[in-house]
Amino acid sequence: MNESTSMQSGAATAMPVPMTVTTVTRKTFDAVMVPVYAPSAVVPVRGAGMEVWDQDGKRYLDFTAGIAVTSLGHAHPAVVEALCVQAKTLWHLSNGFTNEPVLRLATALTQATFAERVFFCNSGAEANEAAFKLARKYASNKFGPAKSRIISCTNSFHGRTLFTVSVGGQPKYTEGFGPLPQQIEHIPYNDIEAARAAMGDDVCALVVEPVQGEGGVVPASKEYLQALRELCDQHNALLIFDEVQCGMGRTGTLFAYMGYGVTPDILSSAKALGNGYPIGAMLTTAAIAASFSVGTHGTTYGGNPMAATVALKVLEIIQAPEFLARVRQAAVKLTAMLHLIISDYPQVFSLVRGSGLMLGMVLSEQYRGRAKDITRATEAEGLMLLIAGPDVLRWLPALIVSDAQIEEAERLLRRALDVFLAVPVTAL
Ligand SMILES: *Cc1c(COP(=O)(O)O)cnc(C)c1O
Repeated sequence: MNESTSMQSGAATAMPVPMTVTTVTRKTFDAVMVPVYAPSAVVPVRGAGMEVWDQDGKRYLDFTAGIAVTSLGHAHPAVVEALCVQAKTLWHLSNGFTNEPVLRLATALTQATFAERVFFCNSGAEANEAAFKLARKYASNKFGPAKSRIISCTNSFHGRTLFTVSVGGQPKYTEGFGPLPQQIEHIPYNDIEAARAAMGDDVCALVVEPVQGEGGVVPASKEYLQALRELCDQHNALLIFDEVQCGMGRTGTLFAYMGYGVTPDILSSAKALGNGYPIGAMLTTAAIAASFSVGTHGTTYGGNPMAATVALKVLEIIQAPEFLARVRQAAVKLTAMLHLIISDYPQVFSLVRGSGLMLGMVLSEQYRGRAKDITRATEAEGLMLLIAGPDVLRWLPALIVSDAQIEEAERLLRRALDVFLAVPVTAL
């Protein structure tokens, strides 16, 4: 048998086909990815703290935190350490077994919040999906199947599963996906009278973001959340707070509801909970959780040891009173800086709104629809920023942002705005 024959026959000699070594660039995205995103021309390859570097070695100051996800910054040493230790210990078990990290995390979350029970999943959409299903089940068990209506707000965002986009208040996200889940009604945000008018005994839940994120960075008023609490109590409906974006320290308290002093029946968390490691959580009371029983809901990866270990470390760091005090201090500094920018560029921006380190600059009439162009200009100067719709520039820095970094962001933003304004609108 010559060598080539033996290569082709025996299993023992079968060679793995080597992966072709390819250079990947932003162009590769269009060639191999389902086109649901339009990412920047820049491909980041490494991050540390508030900084990110791209394929060309260019440095960026990151004031996006991956849409309020990497709230402790990139590659936070204590989180990396916790993850690496767990990676060498235990990755995954089926839900036929529980594990120590998830039990510690659930205990810590119940100690830190109103909640007595926690369900873990892998994303914000799944946390909301669990919340909506639980609300329907609870109402069905207790009051019968007719109590199924869910009230939500226009411009709200709750995720991309069919149920969560349907509850979300942005019709563009449900177009073409029908038939949609039924008995979902939308009311204008921060409008107490509209909530009063919509409420009824057939409502099982009212869901609201204490601070709307995707909808343009709009905080709820305290009176609004208080009124929703009262309306829900009067009609035996559950109040659900979607804190996927505004929770985990973002507004200067561990969860935004704490700052408002209004307690929900169910709270969803994700994004910053894992600082970039996928995890979501639905928090609720023991009485409501009891409507779910063995087999009524579940997910393979929910509460796996890796994600739970990371989230426990993140929670420990963020819930420290000194950490949250610093978030509030940084928020004062950043807000003041944004107000200064507005007064220096009144032609571009009309107002600043938001809460804590979740801030939006609303574009003036003249520059409506140009938010993306401004983030492109800041990116060219080395500052990563987000938009919240076409008319709002969104600021979501990691919660570890320093005063010096806020000052650097101001310098980069001013340079970007000067470049942006140098291009006459008519030339576009
Ligand atoms: C991002 C977000 C979600 C969805 O979270 P995913 O992890 O993308 O599923 C839900 N609600 C709010 C308020 C969000 O900002």
